[in-house]
Amino acid sequence: MTDTDAGPAPSLADARERDAADPLRAYRDHFSVPEDERYMDGNSLGLAPDTALATLDRVVDEWKRLAIRGWEAADPDWFHYGEHLGDLLAPLVGARESEVVVANSTTVNIHTLIGTFLDTLPGTPAGPDPTADPPAVLVNDLDFPTDHYAVRAQFRQRGIDPDEGLVGVESRDGRTIDEADIEAALRERDDIGIVFMPSVLYRSGQLLDIDRISAAAHEHGALAGFDCAHSLGVVDHDLRNAGAGGVDDGTADGAALGTGADFAVWCSYKYLNAGPGATAGLYVHERHHGTTPALAGWWGNDKSTQFEMRHTYDQADTAGAWQIGTVPMLSSAPIEGATELIREAGIDAVREKSLALTDLLIDLVEDRLGDDFSVGTPREHTRRGGHVAIEHPEGYRLSEALRDRGVIVDFRPPNVVRVCPAPLYTRYEDVWRVVETIEAIVESDAHREYEPRDGGVT
Ligand SMILES: *Cc1c(COP(=O)(O)O)cnc(C)c1O
Repeated sequence: MTDTDAGPAPSLADARERDAADPLRAYRDHFSVPEDERYMDGNSLGLAPDTALATLDRVVDEWKRLAIRGWEAADPDWFHYGEHLGDLLAPLVGARESEVVVANSTTVNIHTLIGTFLDTLPGTPAGPDPTADPPAVLVNDLDFPTDHYAVRAQFRQRGIDPDEGLVGVESRDGRTIDEADIEAALRERDDIGIVFMPSVLYRSGQLLDIDRISAAAHEHGALAGFDCAHSLGVVDHDLRNAGAGGVDDGTADGAALGTGADFAVWCSYKYLNAGPGATAGLYVHERHHGTTPALAGWWGNDKSTQFEMRHTYDQADTAGAWQIGTVPMLSSAPIEGATELIREAGIDAVREKSLALTDLLIDLVEDRLGDDFSVGTPREHTRRGGHVAIEHPEGYRLSEALRDRGVIVDFRPPNVVRVCPAPLYTRYEDVWRVVETIEAIVESDAHREYEPRDGGVT
């Protein structure tokens, strides 16, 4: 690929200079970074920070010392721990403390929130007008699969054909989703009740415009929900103000919906670094507090009456209502220390370094690798998440060869090698070395020694 903006490719010395000047460089020492490896998979599973291990150790110790008393006597107490973690996360999503809670898994949270909001719409059995035509949920063709599985299941449970209800915005290039196509779908169809989009596409790394999508949804009387699994902890969010720039022409229901994304979900084991399968999180705008959760459980009860053990559900008047069962303390405790680290570093500084790292990666791929390579991730900062999709016809064999050489990346069909320089523990030098390793592999044809992919899990 030829470089049009001239200038030589950044050198190893340049990369080292940037590391020396990096205001976040000391954060790497908090992480268990594998020796002799370039770990580039922090968008799938973040490395372990010592701060997360410390809060986990504390809870284990509380369990030993306090046993059942931990629900009240631990500090912070376990009973309100999901809410407590929600308070810590609220600034990272740009929400009020009462709007955020840590609970369940991402997939379960999609089930309960899509179900909850379907039940508020005309055309669903529990909705205001069950005889109306069923509503549609607008998603896209490049979504993470679990999002579609969950939305489809929620339609089936309401007796609505998921092939009718689930509407996917098509990609024009197989990599990205154009927000204009989301707007067009909203204009063309009057049955869209919920727009449910990812913040960042898991394969190409495109960052979608949450603000613009929220405004468009609200202008057309649809709710706006987001899956922020691939952005939380690396991209700053302002969910409460999303859509503020939207035009309200006074003709749609948008005025009633007002500003702010309606709901969001995310997981804690990617850029939040809280460990494999760590408890997920969710946001529900306060205008929806009091709406009945689709998957109700005693942990979503008002905390002041929960232990009266009544058989009538007295739901919390916060996002806490969308908790279901007992907070999984051991899968939640690492979130406390991991989140504090990101808050201390500052999400704006984290984002700035992330963009600088991915800029360097993209520059090096374009300058040093051949025409077989292309970058599937948008160049514009406003459209880029935290990882880069490097496309190559032999992407699978390349990713295998990289792993054998200590460069931990992953492959996503058909041809994408995802490379994630997570900003809290990745150095500019690491990025430079990754591209050097790719170059060495293709120059020696070393990847051809690996079996082509036959459909297995990578
Ligand atoms: C990682 C990811 C998930 C994972 O969901 P789990 O329930 O934690 O397995 C869901 N959606 C998106 C967009 C993701 O990137």
